[in-house]
Amino acid sequence: MQSPPSDLRAPLPVLPTMKPRLIRRLLLPLPILLLMLTCGYVAERLSERAGIRALAENGARQLELHARALESEISTHTYLPSLLELEGNVIRLLLQPTPYRRERVNRYLEGLNQRSGSRAIYVLDPSGRVLATSNWQDADSFQGEDLSFRAYFQDAIAGRPGRFYGIGTTTGEPGYYLAHGLRHAGRIVGVAVVKIRLDRLERRWERARLDAFVSDENGIIILSSDPSRRLRSVRPLDDETRSRLAGSLQYHWVRLDELQPLDRQPLNPGAELLSLPVRSANGEEHPVRYLAQSQPLHDSAWTFTLLTPLQDVRREAMSHGMLAAAAFALLAILLIAWNERRKVIATRLAAREALQEANSQLERKIAERTADLRASNERLRAQIRERRQAEETLRKTQDDLIQAGKLAVIGQMSTSIAHELNQPLAALRTLAGNSVRFLQRGNLETASSNLQTINELVDRMGRITASLRAFARRSDDTGEAQLGKAVDAALFLLQPRLERTPLTIHRDFAEACLAIDQTRLEQILVNLIVNAIDAMATQRDRQLWLEGRLDDQGRYRLGVRDNGPGIPPALRSHLFEPFFTTKPGEQGLGLGLTLSASLAAAAGGSLSVRHPEEGGTAFVLILPVLATAPNETAADE
Ligand code: ADP
Repeated sequence: MQSPPSDLRAPLPVLPTMKPRLIRRLLLPLPILLLMLTCGYVAERLSERAGIRALAENGARQLELHARALESEISTHTYLPSLLELEGNVIRLLLQPTPYRRERVNRYLEGLNQRSGSRAIYVLDPSGRVLATSNWQDADSFQGEDLSFRAYFQDAIAGRPGRFYGIGTTTGEPGYYLAHGLRHAGRIVGVAVVKIRLDRLERRWERARLDAFVSDENGIIILSSDPSRRLRSVRPLDDETRSRLAGSLQYHWVRLDELQPLDRQPLNPGAELLSLPVRSANGEEHPVRYLAQSQPLHDSAWTFTLLTPLQDVRREAMSHGMLAAAAFALLAILLIAWNERRKVIATRLAAREALQEANSQLERKIAERTADLRASNERLRAQIRERRQAEETLRKTQDDLIQAGKLAVIGQMSTSIAHELNQPLAALRTLAGNSVRFLQRGNLETASSNLQTINELVDRMGRITASLRAFARRSDDTGEAQLGKAVDAALFLLQPRLERTPLTIHRDFAEACLAIDQTRLEQILVNLIVNAIDAMATQRDRQLWLEGRLDDQGRYRLGVRDNGPGIPPALRSHLFEPFFTTKPGEQGLGLGLTLSASLAAAAGGSLSVRHPEEGGTAFVLILPVLATAPNETAADE
């Protein structure tokens, strides 16, 4: 099957995925911010409403107070025109005007005006012409002026009290006119008018920092603490009203602009929120919000309006709103922090529980393993005991084997030993017989020479038996052996064999003191050399190399090599097996190599075999060293 091209197998781009917890964390500030703003907004609204309510309560009191003050200001002059009815000079002047009477009334009115604090007091005849006036001496005196067009005159002549606010046609000065029809004998003979100035009130408001105005029945502001609002209409004027008012000259020639609020929000009857443009000191107009409270005045169609700026309330509401938002934010932060802490504690608790669980699991496992280990330890101990017993048995068997081997060697050699001993014995007999005859002949020299030879032969025989005894003796695994001596002893033991089967021995080893019993080393050497002699028995050129040196690990390595036929590969693996032999009849027991290897191993060494390519067999005996001597010159035999 063909595999798809590698670019098709490329992994799809991993879309960035966010953990829901992270999303929650990122989005959390948004609702908190919204709630904070809402909280601030609500607090601001509530605070503003409460502030306005408090202002309204205070404003209502102020309104009442100042409205009463205005009413009392007017009412102090209300009686004045009617008072003139009682004045005979005035009535007389009206009935029959004379210059004398006019002057007297003028003076009277002047005095009265001064005392009452009014702007002017004057008397009109029924045609509306001024007969006498308090300002008769002034340049702008009303004297002789026709004021019949004035509404207050028309009301008063008709018997109604004339109340009129207007701007004087002569003076151009605003004032409040109070008119009264003067009656004589049941009919109205003239009209008395008092003009009062109300600007004192305006100044008083100004001093009290009161923002207020009074609008008349036409909705025109006649009194205002702010001069810019004066003579402006508080409600829209239709064209008919405008032309009527213009005709009456009530407001002189003033344009009567409308006071247009930028915003108007009714609260309850008599109260509303207004935004009015206010010109600041630098001439710029800016909107100011007011609480406007209005109250109609008694005895007139006027309305008193009190304006209370809402700046302070707004500022206070704003700060309350901000405070509430900040408090909410603080609360939210505290809640979040508390929640985070709660989570951290929960996580910690969970981690601790998990740790405890893991700990107890670990302890359980350790306990199980310990039990297993204890059991296997017990098993091992039992095995060790068994092994020790087996080793003990083996060692005993080995000892027995060694002993048996030695005895076997002795048995094996006994024939040749007997032969060896028989020869010197025969020689001894001959030499002893000859010596007796030489002594009898008096040939002492020859007899002494014979006796010397006899002595040597006896020594030799003693050595043979001594080495046999040493060979047969049981000995320790420990001890020390001189290599040279051991070789000598082995060769001496094998002397008879060597004489029958001579061979060239190459001694190429350094003298060394080895950690093995001397006799055991001799036994090993005898075994190895006998085997070499046996192997080379049928050949003419027989050579034996004894090569010794220290190996890398500081042990002594002795090679016993012959140039015999070697060992067939099929037999090689059986060499060290007990009772393996290729020797015919009684010649071989098959114990020599087994015992030699055991002796070497018991001394902490080893015995192994090599099969050199050039032929022959080489046995390698490795033994621990106690001391070495400089290389001994090889003595070939
Ligand atoms: P035995 O000498 O009684 O046969 P060993 O254990 O000494 O018992 O030897 C076992 C056999 O190993 C011998 O029968 C012989 O066949 C073989 N062998 C030992 N040494 C040599 C040698 N140097 N060359 C050839 N064969 C040998």
